[in-house]
Amino acid sequence: MEGKKRVYKFGGKTADGNSTMKNLLGGKGANLAEMSLIGIPVPAGFTITTEVCTEYNLYGKDAVVKVIKEQVEEAVKATELIMGAKFDPTDGSFPLLLSVRSGARASMPGMMNTVLNLGMNDETVKIIAEKSGNAKFAYDSYRRFIHMYGDVVMGVEAEEGHHNPFEVILDKLKEAKGYKIDTELTVEDLKDLVEGYKSVIREHAGVDFPTNPWDQLWGSVCAVFDSWNTERAILYRRMENIPSEWGTAVNVQAMVYGNMGDSSATGVCFSRDAATGEDQFNGEYLVNAQGEDVVSGVRTPLEITTIGSKRWAERNGTSEEDRVKNFPSLEEVMPSLYQELNETQQKLENHYSDMQDMEFTIQEGKLWMLQTRNGKRTGAAMVKMAVDMLAQGLIDEKTAILRQEPNKLDELLHPVFDHDAVVAAKEISKGLPASPGAATGQVVFSADAAEKWAADGKKVILVRRETSPEDLKGMYAAEGILTERGGMTSHAAVVARGMGKCCISSAAGVFVSGSSMTVNGVVYKEGDFISLDGTTGIVYDGKVDTMTATLDGDFAKLMELAEKNTRMYVRTNADTPDDAKAAREFGAKGIGLCRTEHMFFEGDRIWAIREMILAEDVEGRKNALAKLLPIQREDFYGILEAMDGFGVTIRLLDPPLHEFTPNDAASQAEMAERLGVDVELVKAKVESLHEFNPMLGHRGCRLGNTYPEITEMQARAIIEAACDLKAKGFNPKPEIMVPLIGTMQEFKMQENIIREVAAAVFAEKGIEVDYLVGTMIEIPRACLTADKIAEHAEFFSFGTNDLTQMGFGYSRDDAGKFLPIYIEKGILKHDPFQVLDQEGIGQLVEMACEKGKAARPTLKIGICGEHGGEPSSVEFCHRVGMEYVSCSPFRVPIARLAAAQAAMRE
Ligand code: PEP
Ligand code: MG
Repeated sequence: MEGKKRVYKFGGKTADGNSTMKNLLGGKGANLAEMSLIGIPVPAGFTITTEVCTEYNLYGKDAVVKVIKEQVEEAVKATELIMGAKFDPTDGSFPLLLSVRSGARASMPGMMNTVLNLGMNDETVKIIAEKSGNAKFAYDSYRRFIHMYGDVVMGVEAEEGHHNPFEVILDKLKEAKGYKIDTELTVEDLKDLVEGYKSVIREHAGVDFPTNPWDQLWGSVCAVFDSWNTERAILYRRMENIPSEWGTAVNVQAMVYGNMGDSSATGVCFSRDAATGEDQFNGEYLVNAQGEDVVSGVRTPLEITTIGSKRWAERNGTSEEDRVKNFPSLEEVMPSLYQELNETQQKLENHYSDMQDMEFTIQEGKLWMLQTRNGKRTGAAMVKMAVDMLAQGLIDEKTAILRQEPNKLDELLHPVFDHDAVVAAKEISKGLPASPGAATGQVVFSADAAEKWAADGKKVILVRRETSPEDLKGMYAAEGILTERGGMTSHAAVVARGMGKCCISSAAGVFVSGSSMTVNGVVYKEGDFISLDGTTGIVYDGKVDTMTATLDGDFAKLMELAEKNTRMYVRTNADTPDDAKAAREFGAKGIGLCRTEHMFFEGDRIWAIREMILAEDVEGRKNALAKLLPIQREDFYGILEAMDGFGVTIRLLDPPLHEFTPNDAASQAEMAERLGVDVELVKAKVESLHEFNPMLGHRGCRLGNTYPEITEMQARAIIEAACDLKAKGFNPKPEIMVPLIGTMQEFKMQENIIREVAAAVFAEKGIEVDYLVGTMIEIPRACLTADKIAEHAEFFSFGTNDLTQMGFGYSRDDAGKFLPIYIEKGILKHDPFQVLDQEGIGQLVEMACEKGKAARPTLKIGICGEHGGEPSSVEFCHRVGMEYVSCSPFRVPIARLAAAQAAMRE
């Protein structure tokens, strides 16, 4: 164990380590070293390596302290020199106070221990009180240190069923003095607390609080190593796949203070605007304050730059005179320090080639950078910064693409809440974020009401227990949709995403009954206002202002870059020409799924379907279907025209027929009257269509194989539409898709019907079009026998919604009841209806791709389940060699970006 370098110093513009040494120094340690190396003024300190953590676990505390003692003492000396302060001073010099923090290779936020203000004792607190001229600050820091040290290092914490003993003392004192908040404590109170806290430690730990700073240091270092193996850290590592052998480094660093008078300050700043992406340095600061004061809102922080300060004043209605006097910028108050800070931020941004989020402290006229990291940003800022930085030569194309978080593009495509308005809003429930965007409006409880209110110019939120295709018109009319039940692939979720409309499903505590709903005990009636954030799943009480997002040239540039770098292309799931057009504008190249049943609810079409359902025999059904034929032909014509030149996959009828019949007595009576039959007949039919498990019942190709006339009509409508278009000079490319295939024979029978119809139409019209016949792969058996199916099918489209449902055995419509709990308990990491389960369901997909390609090398393969727009699933699709992914129109840009990233990561 002898001889090795175990302690790496940083500070004073030099460092023993650098940013490439993350494995040895941890992320934080490597970054501190790097900052110091490039000449950034960071408070000096040192990093004890991750290897020492491993030795600590192997050989124990004493052996490790012995082996690093000399190196640590030397590093403390170097720190003292740079900081001009002394650890454990005996000569009245200014005391060096330290922070001790963990820092693993991978970030483990909040999982391990931290000790601040180390080095405080009865002597040093006096010097600090005197030299800082701020006794309250000194004694407050001291009592916090004793609390923290007692808790973290000495294990003095609340026993089961009891309150934390430090807090008990604090609360008692506040109560006796009638204080509401901690800041009311006086210096004398704080001194009393210090003594009280010490006796708590004596009582609970059986030993005195260590007043010797060296004892404090070793105690803290060991406590950080120990925290690598706490239950929560172990659990976190297991969840995040972080090996326990990695260990944590320990960072020991000088504390600096921004609250030592008027030549001290502290602040947070960003090298570019995190909200808009504008290349403008910005941030906030406070003179004579601690970092906490800037973020806690106790004092209102001021703008760092003068330009920012002027913009603030304008928004705030503050006069220039008032601004200069009372709200000056750091640039105005401390010009030379501002200059240094400005140069530093520029240097850091150039060095890391990304927008930096930095924390700084000015201690008595000296600038210290405490932290820098790549800053979080809005979707719009993410796009603008990448495009700008590419133009500025700061990054290359690959970096510009890979730096995007595809899901964040959502913010650019949907309305969002006004930031200030949403902060003030009251949250009333949380559900599944089924479709992104923000919506605000008056609640209505039926599709009819939604239509009526919207026609009167009101904005409405449609609230339903769950939605069915019958609610479609109400969903169109509404700003947003809220459902009590249903998961991420429920009808409401899928349809809302298709419309680009905000939707929350399975909202907790929401109970819908007739024309009102209760939300955790509070009743909302028709006309009451609520607001939905479909991106987070949060429901708010009342109106919350929204802003519409706008797409600009930067977005287009980014999409161009994605296009240039992708292998897979993106199609869309669309059922109307309008949706198809919208998706085409977002860059969709074809339709991956047109769900024909979605067309059956518009206008009077439902009556032809209902007539078909009531028909007693083939003839009756054919008569009813004949009425649908021209309507469907027109639909397909519109869609094929909108996607001219691109493949359009049209799926034959899929849902069980009961979805088209009404359940309530009044609607059943209407159906009987309209179709001229006895109401009893309608009731009997509805009953006979009832299924115990409709998702596994009489649906998909089972309909077409038992009622071939349905397939005949649909195939005819598609082929006729295509022939008509071709006659007019268009280039239609229909792909007819059979749903829910489990055996080759099921497919074969449907294919025969389709090809016969096509041949007949070609002969009748004297014109031919190219078309494909293929299948959904959404039943596990289809994956297992994909080679046999591919002998006949020209394309596969993975229906991963049903494949997930059947692979897991989770009902799509009922999983909302337990999936959130499963995720909370860590049984599942994600909702498998949102994020493809690559480990399990992914095997089925991969197997089907391999078997299918082996049997038919030209097999065209894509995906049309909801996963086709989810970035990690898109990457998986790329890996297994799919030709395209298909998703709802508003997800097309996300999928395009994810597809490009997948190609670039290869
Ligand atoms: C699927 O099952 O993945 C699919 C796309 O079809 P649907 O959601 O209509 O069942
Ligand atoms: Mg399906």
